[in-house]
Amino acid sequence: MSRTVWHEMVRHCLEERPMEACGLLSGRNGCAETLWRMENIEKSPVAFAMDLRHVQKVLQKMALKGETLAGIYHSHPTAPPLPSLEDIAYAHYPEAAYLIVSLSSSEPVIGCYRIVGTRVFSLPYSLR
Ligand SMILES: [Zn+2]
Repeated sequence: MSRTVWHEMVRHCLEERPMEACGLLSGRNGCAETLWRMENIEKSPVAFAMDLRHVQKVLQKMALKGETLAGIYHSHPTAPPLPSLEDIAYAHYPEAAYLIVSLSSSEPVIGCYRIVGTRVFSLPYSLR
């Protein structure tokens, strides 16, 4: 992903604290270049959900830019960057990277995964 997207993602998660923040990343060739802030309709410190109509609108905007969904991020304000059972159950985009921004230590820590069904794979990412 681009460094700009990395910083925007961390900033969004810090701004929404103590609630979980969530959003989408899009780009070309698997590199996330655009960040789309989404509303956490759960308004919860331990869970997140997005409005599916809003997700559909953002997917259309991505397509207009010639980009595709590259990642889905959310924050864990007080927990480590590991997907919860709920995160895994609601992960419906196996082609996207799932990023979890943990704010539980002094520096933000980002976990990146691919979630296929109930299987979770660690996914390396690099900054450009
Ligand atoms: Zn989570």
